[in-house]
Amino acid sequence: MTLPFDLTGRVAVVTGASRGIGYFIAKELAAAGAHVVAVARTVGGLEELDDEIKQENARTGKGEATLVPLDLADMAGIDRLGGAIHERWGKLDILVANAGILGVIAPLGHVEAKVFEKVMLLNVTSMWRLIRSVDPLLRLSDAGRAILLSSGAAHSARAYWGPYAASKAAVEAMGRSWADETRQLPLRINSVNPGATRTAMRAQAMPGEDPKTLPHPSEIALRIATLADPALTETGLIFDATSERFLTYRMPE
Ligand code: NDP
Repeated sequence: MTLPFDLTGRVAVVTGASRGIGYFIAKELAAAGAHVVAVARTVGGLEELDDEIKQENARTGKGEATLVPLDLADMAGIDRLGGAIHERWGKLDILVANAGILGVIAPLGHVEAKVFEKVMLLNVTSMWRLIRSVDPLLRLSDAGRAILLSSGAAHSARAYWGPYAASKAAVEAMGRSWADETRQLPLRINSVNPGATRTAMRAQAMPGEDPKTLPHPSEIALRIATLADPALTETGLIFDATSERFLTYRMPE
């Protein structure tokens, strides 16, 4: 299965592209013809992705990758990334802000300050910094798409998931504000709840769970990548990858 639309000539940034859901979103976007700017710290994972994209390109002539080994805690590095994309392409078509961390599963009163701050730094501040860095470039695309990885935890807010849940609620609030600011533009911005997916993060959160009972990240990534469709109309919503439906959580006015 591949995406039912063509992304030839489009540039996509995918963070957290070295493994898990981000890896497979990057692969799907490239298979549809996009030039993927793949961001993460682990060079080995990025190189593996690049190899797969090159193999697919040899077969279909579609898709390319530029690898950006970057720690997203490096805010100046995020600013430089936006500058480099501007210089090379003068626009950005797709942002997939996927990188994230779980932190720790623990009662709020037991969470170490440095762990709480790291979760907020990575999941919220660095996502905002990336949004700030590429917002002018996405506005220059004729069909800009932003896909922000959230989690059901933002709403279930289960016991012991406090820091992560708070960070993902912030992601969704940012996404909705940004969508509201850009409603008159072709830019479409949505958050995503991938649902439980067979990745390293899920194994960290649920060490007793049998990973084989969960969908493979390639399956979930294909659903999420549909939000990059140049024909998409929805904005400011939450896409639930399990039901493949858009949700809204607005309070009654
Ligand atoms: P993984 O832990 O498998 O992958 C996380 C990715 O983020 C890796 O590529 C990692 O790359 C990157 N990353 C982490 N820290 C940094 C950093 N400091 N700088 C740059 N990149 C970083 O996670 P998943 O694939 O499971 O999760 C992807 C997204 O989906 C996350 O936002 C997560 O919260 C969300 N999600 C996942 C669910 C699941 O069940 N898996 C459920 C709900 C939401 P590297 O280590 O190489 O830097």
